[in-house]
Amino acid sequence: MTPPGSSISTHLDWDYAPAPESAAIGRIRDRYQMYVGGRFVDGRGDDVKTINPGTEEALASVSTASIADVDDAVAAARAAYDQTWSRISGAERGKYLYRIARGIAERARELAVVETLDNGKPIKESRDVDIPTASAHFFYHAGWADKLQHAGFGPSPRALGVAGQVIPWNFPLLMAAWKIAPALAAGNTVVIKPAETTPLSILVLAEIIADADLPPGVVNIITGAGDIGAALVNHPGIDKVAFTGSTEVGKQIQSSLAGTGRKITLELGGKAANIIFDDAPVDQAVEGIVNGIFFNQGHVCCAGSRLLVQESVADEVVEKLRARVATLRLGDPMDKNTDVGAINSATQLATIRSLTDAGDAEGASRWTSPCPVPDRGFFFPPTVFTDVSQSMRIAREEIFGPVLSVLTFRTPDEAVAKANNTPYGLSAGVWTEKGSRILGMASAMRAGVVWANTFNRFDPTAAFGGYKESGFGREGGRAGLSAYLDTDDEFVSESPSASGISDAANSGISDAANSAVTDSSATDSSGDRRARQVRGASADTASADAEEAATLAVAERLSEAEALADAVGVIADPSGIETPDATTVRTARIGVAKTYKLYIGGAFPRSESGRTYPVVDSSGAFAANAAQASRKDARDAVSAARKAFRGWSGATAYNRGQVIYRIAEMLEGRRAQFLDLLGSIAGDTGVRDTAAAARDVDLSIDRLVHFAGWTDKIAAVFGGANPVAGPYFSFSTPEPTGVVAAIAPQANPLLGLVSVIAPIITSGNTIVVIADRSQPLPAITLAEVLATSDLPGGVVNILTGDPAEIAPHLAAHGDVNALDLTGASASLRTELERAAAGTVKRVYAPTRVPDFTREPGTARMRAFLETKTVWHPTGAVSLAGGSGY
Ligand code: NDP
Repeated sequence: MTPPGSSISTHLDWDYAPAPESAAIGRIRDRYQMYVGGRFVDGRGDDVKTINPGTEEALASVSTASIADVDDAVAAARAAYDQTWSRISGAERGKYLYRIARGIAERARELAVVETLDNGKPIKESRDVDIPTASAHFFYHAGWADKLQHAGFGPSPRALGVAGQVIPWNFPLLMAAWKIAPALAAGNTVVIKPAETTPLSILVLAEIIADADLPPGVVNIITGAGDIGAALVNHPGIDKVAFTGSTEVGKQIQSSLAGTGRKITLELGGKAANIIFDDAPVDQAVEGIVNGIFFNQGHVCCAGSRLLVQESVADEVVEKLRARVATLRLGDPMDKNTDVGAINSATQLATIRSLTDAGDAEGASRWTSPCPVPDRGFFFPPTVFTDVSQSMRIAREEIFGPVLSVLTFRTPDEAVAKANNTPYGLSAGVWTEKGSRILGMASAMRAGVVWANTFNRFDPTAAFGGYKESGFGREGGRAGLSAYLDTDDEFVSESPSASGISDAANSGISDAANSAVTDSSATDSSGDRRARQVRGASADTASADAEEAATLAVAERLSEAEALADAVGVIADPSGIETPDATTVRTARIGVAKTYKLYIGGAFPRSESGRTYPVVDSSGAFAANAAQASRKDARDAVSAARKAFRGWSGATAYNRGQVIYRIAEMLEGRRAQFLDLLGSIAGDTGVRDTAAAARDVDLSIDRLVHFAGWTDKIAAVFGGANPVAGPYFSFSTPEPTGVVAAIAPQANPLLGLVSVIAPIITSGNTIVVIADRSQPLPAITLAEVLATSDLPGGVVNILTGDPAEIAPHLAAHGDVNALDLTGASASLRTELERAAAGTVKRVYAPTRVPDFTREPGTARMRAFLETKTVWHPTGAVSLAGGSGY
């Protein structure tokens, strides 16, 4: 107590005293080597210096890889896969992963220091988030290694082989764990490349892996810049590619891997909306906003970088937010009190500066935290922009720094529209007291993770990953595991080459035949030109005899058909009058001709192109003209599918099941008609095969029954509660991807088509499918069944014509979310996959021959499901965004 009259001040300064962690704990060495084939080796690239972004001083030299080193690492991984890893039991694999999990935990403090020195993130985040979560990922996946057959992906999940993985600099060790742990648990071996600016923690992990006695070559770590990443993901010895980084590089990778048949997962950028309703607990919401954007300096793909505040509380929220942000301590990342550390590199700092300058230039109002900024090191003070409109770059582009853009909304619908108005779809946040609104918003967000009354929570049990251009595939949880497993059970043979099966084997009709079978108006009357075209095109290809034989057979049958049609003088008539028999025509009763049209939006329009092409039956006789769909028809079909998506995906699972079951019933009722139709057209051998026709019709009916029964099981089998750490309730639920464009197999014209359509629509997707080019009549007849069933118009849209002409428009269409390329020839598949990369579409492109007579697996369904993970605190919401209990 101060004595009366004393001059001693009663003012106490409550500033934090510095509390630096000791850099010595990191045991940083002068130089680090790569880890290949179980040994620490020098790469043949130049050494690079890794910089401490908090001081701009060099930390250590790191040896880097050359292209030849990439070859060596892939060879080591392949040898390890063949000789050891694929031969040991899951239980044994699991024990290695447990060892690594324990090793990380044992060296946690050292790893935290290394991470902070190399990356610039605050030590409290490395210590409390990155390192424990990395260990937890190994622990979680260790437990899967001997239980893969119980993961719900079918009875015999198999490893893919060698995984090539590229990770970024924002969570170096954690991203390594996210990638390596599931790969190893599933039985794969790994070659992984960290970012050039943050190689150290993964090289310490290499020591832990070596200490765990992991067989040599199971994990290989190569260092270097983007060119080494590119060499790795494009290496022909890689079976599976996993990438986390920018959307731009993700698109390049998807495009360069087009046609290779390699499984890819991409975890890319984001521009998440963090939505604050007027009934939200404002103080807690402010904590959530701060955590959402200033955690890890905003170097977080799922950062809540767009704040959407309900207009009535916007002023209050922004005022409280600024007051709170002003208290964040920016500075030495090694200080245990630091909230905002250093930007990882000078390059990233320049990016942040350039984007925030654009915010000024476009008229937004910048507010900068008054915190002191160190003279040395790469630092950027927490920044909040108001007066932001949706068109500004700071509202659209990923800044990847401590910069928040504030927008407002009036109604929940407006909030949804603004939140979803981005090419990205990684995460979202919702703050409100209303439970029903939370669940409604969670469902309306096109985002892979939705945090409600919390933000930036992660757990190995909870799937993480994006919608739209935020990438595809998941990491964590069961969904993440599936990315490293081959679970396609319906295929019978391996691809004969890396580029996939030959066109003839896959489709029964070659590219050459596909492209040479042109529209009737462009064909001369004799059909010779067509045959010449087919032969000429075929001669150019390097395909096998089988392909040529198939090509010529098709050309021959078409020529005969045209000759026959010419004889009766009807082929050039686009009305498609049937000519059942040349000798009886015009003497017997003329039947009512049937025009085979397209099926779009529940209606049967003619092709906008006004073109048709002739279809022959098994005897080679002209059967009918089929519509040749055009680009405009493709666009109409996509817009019909988009329109139908909301209703179909929003229908109850029971309802969808009833509708699909009803289609099966109706097909059963028209069994005889389909038997007749399939029996009369050319089968894969070109001869009438009634037994095969009966098998295909019956299996088609059964397939519809099978998938009707899936509608109300999908959520339970592929979703569920995630037992996350902490006071949260978290669940993952599958959602349909959206509009799927598909090419039906060019064989099994009914069964193949049904086998493609049914698994796609069962989960609520809508589809635009291009029917078998040579035998489209069963498809249009199926459309008649669909049109008279309870299926809403637009859920299934069927186009006939040349896939090579129509499919590129679908693959490039901005409103198509995914592609099923089952029926695409090898060359078309490559072209379409490349086009799909433009908007990061999900692609299902099997390179093996499907056998639709087999029991269908779940892979086709799962290929068109997104996994959405939702989090909510349990109990009252605390200031930290968690539970108050
Ligand atoms: P990149 O996508 O370039 O880097 C991510 C990883 O990919 C790094 O290991 C990088 O190597 C490697 N890489 C670069 N080019 C290729 C390529 N052609 N083929 C294969 N691998 C490649 O991200 P940046 O580091 O350049 O960051 C740029 C922006 O990307 C950031 O501002 C941010 O917006 C976003 N980003 C998003 C991340 C996310 O988690 N979603 C993570 C990181 C960045 P190296 O770094 O050695 O060149």
